[in-house]
Amino acid sequence: MPTRHTADSELRLRLDALKARDLYRRRAVQDAPQQPCAIVDGRPMLSFCGNDYLGLANHPEVIAALRQGAERWGVGSGAAHLVSGHSRAHQALEEALAEFTARPRALLFSTGYMANLGVITALAGRGDSVYQDRLNHASLLDGALLSRANLRRYPHTDAATLGRLIGEGPARLIVTDGVFSMDGDLAPLPALAPIARAAGAWLMVDDAHGLGVLGRNGRGSLDRFGLDSEAVPILMGTLGKAFGTFGAFVAGSEDLIETLIQSARSYIYTTATPPALAEATLASLRIAARDDWRRERLGVLIAQFRAGAEQLGLALADSQTPIQPLLAGSAARALRWSAALGEAGILVGAIRPPTVPEGTARLRITLSAAHSEADVERLLAALARLPVESQ
Ligand SMILES: *Cc1c(COP(=O)(O)O)cnc(C)c1O
Repeated sequence: MPTRHTADSELRLRLDALKARDLYRRRAVQDAPQQPCAIVDGRPMLSFCGNDYLGLANHPEVIAALRQGAERWGVGSGAAHLVSGHSRAHQALEEALAEFTARPRALLFSTGYMANLGVITALAGRGDSVYQDRLNHASLLDGALLSRANLRRYPHTDAATLGRLIGEGPARLIVTDGVFSMDGDLAPLPALAPIARAAGAWLMVDDAHGLGVLGRNGRGSLDRFGLDSEAVPILMGTLGKAFGTFGAFVAGSEDLIETLIQSARSYIYTTATPPALAEATLASLRIAARDDWRRERLGVLIAQFRAGAEQLGLALADSQTPIQPLLAGSAARALRWSAALGEAGILVGAIRPPTVPEGTARLRITLSAAHSEADVERLLAALARLPVESQ
């Protein structure tokens, strides 16, 4: 089979090139639930790289809700939401999310990736312009590419430049992460909102890393800045991070949600998530809103980590969130650092291009309310022994 052989050897060349540039990615096999005490490839490790910021992914009440949900609903939803897959449990979760975000409606999507593709392609098309922060999540950029609109990227958090760019042409959408996923810093939402209003564009915030963590009762980046749905008409959130389950949602006006139901293809042409999962998320949403102590604990751990890292002379990023990146620069160095931590029993992934821009490979350290102060001490002790070398 010569053709098959040729195609395979071409793939092999591509893979080898990735390895040569330290950009090859490998999956570690987890043998324990998502929690600080991980078991990775059979070995106990203290993990600082999940997104389970509130420690809800393995919470007994959430597990019980999933189990009871499965007893009540079975496992599969059986069909897309518009066919026969939209259960009372999904409906109740949408109502709870609308209330949580203080918006008229919310709509569940199977994943955050699909929510972002769905919203942007439903609202923008050929001839429209979509403005995005240069460091936005890949799913937002992909949504704009798929929409065939003009994708215009502005420098990270640079509202002034956005204001100038947008003056040059018609705008449809301004899109930003609320908390940047690889940097942990906040979008300048109070500056973006008036620019969007003046340009007659919708402002869309992907608050995957802000919901549950920031604002009163974990209501996210918008609440933290006191911005309502007039200032930010489109709010997207994920359920697999601070809420500890799986899936995503978009919250906004009645007309926005009805438009998405009619025309967001990643909503329409896919099977609804299991109803039991909606039951589990209803439980985790309740806990996330109720347990302010989880956010307070995160605040204590973030302060402890930053004070310790500063003492060690480490180059901290400008982040007050549980995402605390340590810049390594080259992919090779990020890999060496990650491996050195691994030897000390600490699990932190090396984040490399194209997830982050060339030359900004890093350790993405994340903290969770499930960590203890002793855990953070162990992390700092391991960081103190990182090899100091050139790139
Ligand atoms: C994780 C993430 C997504 C994707 O959400 P999934 O539910 O994992 O598909 C989208 N946007 C941001 C900013 C994220 O961090």
